[in-house]
Amino acid sequence: MAVDDDGDILPDRDAAKGFYAKYEPKEVLGRGGCSVVRRCIEKETGQQFAAKIIDLSDSSDEGVYEATIREIEVLRMVAGHPYIIELHDVFESSTFIFLVFELCEHGELFDHLTTVVTLSEKKTKLIMRQLFEALAHVHGKGIVHRDLKPENILLDDNYNIKLTDFGFAKVLVPGETLTDVCGTPGYLAPEVLQFAMYEGSQGYTHAVDLWACGVIMYTLLVGCPPFWHRKQMVMLRNIMEGKYSFQSPEWEDITDAPKDLISKLLVLDPARRITVQEALTHDFFQILPSRSQIIVTTLREEQYKGRPFNAKKMFQFGIMCVRAVIRIQRLRFTPEPVSLAITRVDPYRIKALRKVIDNCAFRVYGHWVKKGEGQDRAALFQNCPKLDFPRTPMDVPLIIGKA
Ligand code: ADP
Ligand code: MG
Repeated sequence: MAVDDDGDILPDRDAAKGFYAKYEPKEVLGRGGCSVVRRCIEKETGQQFAAKIIDLSDSSDEGVYEATIREIEVLRMVAGHPYIIELHDVFESSTFIFLVFELCEHGELFDHLTTVVTLSEKKTKLIMRQLFEALAHVHGKGIVHRDLKPENILLDDNYNIKLTDFGFAKVLVPGETLTDVCGTPGYLAPEVLQFAMYEGSQGYTHAVDLWACGVIMYTLLVGCPPFWHRKQMVMLRNIMEGKYSFQSPEWEDITDAPKDLISKLLVLDPARRITVQEALTHDFFQILPSRSQIIVTTLREEQYKGRPFNAKKMFQFGIMCVRAVIRIQRLRFTPEPVSLAITRVDPYRIKALRKVIDNCAFRVYGHWVKKGEGQDRAALFQNCPKLDFPRTPMDVPLIIGKA
């Protein structure tokens, strides 16, 4: 077995002739339990790919080969979705299996999050929507992923997600439940732990992926996972008790819709947890229609009420709608109505008039009624004559009128 400059295993050329004939392996992109993922270049086209090289010679795990074959089967079942990684090629030797995937230039969502710390609600919405769409496709085929986490969500050159690592994925027949404990501790659903700890537990199904989505979404928004504790046992207990909160200061700036979605994903009882389809229709993903969309929809509705089509009326109605919407939009700039009675008695109380009065007053008294020096300018308009005129320090009479 060959080793590269960094000490990473590179399969012997003899052991993997098919792969080497077609691809040139380059640097390591990531590592897993029994695999190394390398960038590689297709010799014929010069196109880049990511080759997951699985070492079968590691006798400590007998099931690696079978697990990889299952992973390939699942990858082929879910192929063709924009947010799921595409398997391009497979090579097999006696000691290695090569899975050649499309390359995700921007690597793991996990690394991206480490760089940016948190994502805005807008970006979280984009990523979570893509994740739920990918998951809807996976669940639609009866498959449970079982290892959803930011390390297994890759980002392509446009920062769109590609769900990957179907190593723990399992096809479920209706009514079937799973019992083995697999996944990554911080993302494990309570029912998975329940089964490991208590007799008589029923096992778990697709809902475990929705729980993991809740953990991912929480982490994206505030940069730390919901159940984390430096002692793993305490973290697992937090998961089983569903103990998390939106109390930290970071949550103050986050609106209610994402919090509501997270709280519907992180539900202890899997039967009451939101499904992937329900998640996709949650308020968090609803976009308010634009003004033009509202008008077009209203016009269409009018058209379909069965009335004979009248182009002139329809045009007038359209104009009315646009004018109404513009009026509503400008409402906050419209001045409040002015009361004639107050204007007569106390014009200075009305903001708009106050400005006019001040301007007029300044023209007359400009040289001594200065803004910000504490004079009561309203007093200038009181009806009764003011007798206690302020005196200058030198007791020099004030000159009224322009200098
Ligand atoms: P494992 O099952 O061993 O965890 P993964 O399929 O998750 O293997 O791959 C391990 C890591 O390799 C990923 O977390 C990622 O960093 C990197 N990787 C995998 N596939 C790709 C790809 N298509 N493009 C870029 N990086 C990848
Ligand atoms: Mg992985």
